[in-house]
Amino acid sequence: MAETRHTRVLIIGSGPAGYTAGVYASRAMLEPILVQGIEPGGQLTTTTEVENWPGDTEVQGPELMVRMEAHAKAMGCEIIGDIITDLDLSERPFTAKGDSGTSYTADAVILATGARAKWLGLASEEAFKGFGVSACATCDGFFYRGQEIVVIGGGNTAVEEALFLTNFASKVTLVHRRDELRAEKILQDRLFKHPKIEPLWFHTLDEVVGEDDPKGVEAVRVKHVETGEITEIPCKGVFIAIGHAPASELVKDQLETHMGGYVKVEAGSTRTSTPGVFAAGDLTDHIYRQAVTSAGMGCMAALDAEKFLAEQDD
Ligand code: FAD
Ligand code: NAP
Repeated sequence: MAETRHTRVLIIGSGPAGYTAGVYASRAMLEPILVQGIEPGGQLTTTTEVENWPGDTEVQGPELMVRMEAHAKAMGCEIIGDIITDLDLSERPFTAKGDSGTSYTADAVILATGARAKWLGLASEEAFKGFGVSACATCDGFFYRGQEIVVIGGGNTAVEEALFLTNFASKVTLVHRRDELRAEKILQDRLFKHPKIEPLWFHTLDEVVGEDDPKGVEAVRVKHVETGEITEIPCKGVFIAIGHAPASELVKDQLETHMGGYVKVEAGSTRTSTPGVFAAGDLTDHIYRQAVTSAGMGCMAALDAEKFLAEQDD
């Protein structure tokens, strides 16, 4: 028979927001259960150096997340490798179904499901995903040793991916739809100084061109945003780095969302439109989207949940 687990606080997500909520909820003696999801450790496990986590001048993203997990565990948080496939917030205790078959009931829920990479939505992008088209340089960069690579985007992720890919590629072309990057200045400086990187301004990806047998990318066709002129750039790898979208599918018809799916919280808190349900990190933040701000919101969510549960017990 399928197992049902009850907890005072169910934390969904294992990025900086989830693990920090785990630390604080454990120290409040709430004996939380944290469900990790498909990406244990969250987005930082897809990057290399992190240089803006306070206390570490430089730390590898995956290593930082292993430490956060160990910290939450050491404080007493139960960490479970499962994926929540269904969440019912219509009555308390709230009910979540796990992919493992386990059901979870909870007096309070902390949502920390973060964000996922966005895609452009081109048919050719879809056709070559995993065959030259990727959204993760740390995962796939190694396959393009000595090859030419194209990166699409102009934010921190695109610039970091382009810089990282120079470890493997003979040349990296950064294609951006404007002539100004959104990335931090320090990253821009590194990009502009790098001899292997060439920016291509005012262009968007029009089509990925490749072969079927063996399946692989041969080039991209990019389009000038004003003139419409098409240019073909030979390359073996295309990295799409155009941002991330909030992972709010579980709650999209149950909680108020805004700005394209970000879960709405009351200003200065992590309270969502349903009492007892709290949201933290990139899932709720369309502005800052940093590890440290996510961790801060994870702390707030645990404190908000503790206060909520104490009021219910009165
Ligand atoms: P995430 O890290 O997105 O984690 C979400 C978690 O939710 C995952 O564990 C996932 O498995 C889980 N989840 C999702 N759905 C479910 C479900 N249905 N059931 C159970 N679990 C679920 N920020 C910085 O401050 N410094 C950096 O140097 C930096 N570099 C970055 C580099 C890259 C390539 C990227 C993509 C982002 C970077 N960021 C950086 C941003 C930072 O990673 C995010 O702001 C941060 O990870 C958000 O934390 P989070 O806890 O909200 O969610
Ligand atoms: P982002 O900041 O939203 O940037 C997305 C980039 O992709 C923008 O340059 C945008 O162009 C471009 N873009 C979006 N849609 C496009 C489309 N359809 N076609 C072509 N280009 C498109 O996303 P991000 O770079 O992934 O960063 C997400 C968050 O994580 C940010 O808050 C960032 O600071 C954080 N992060 C931090 C670090 C770090 O601190 N080192 C590293 C990585 C990420 P426009 O500029 O024209 O809008």
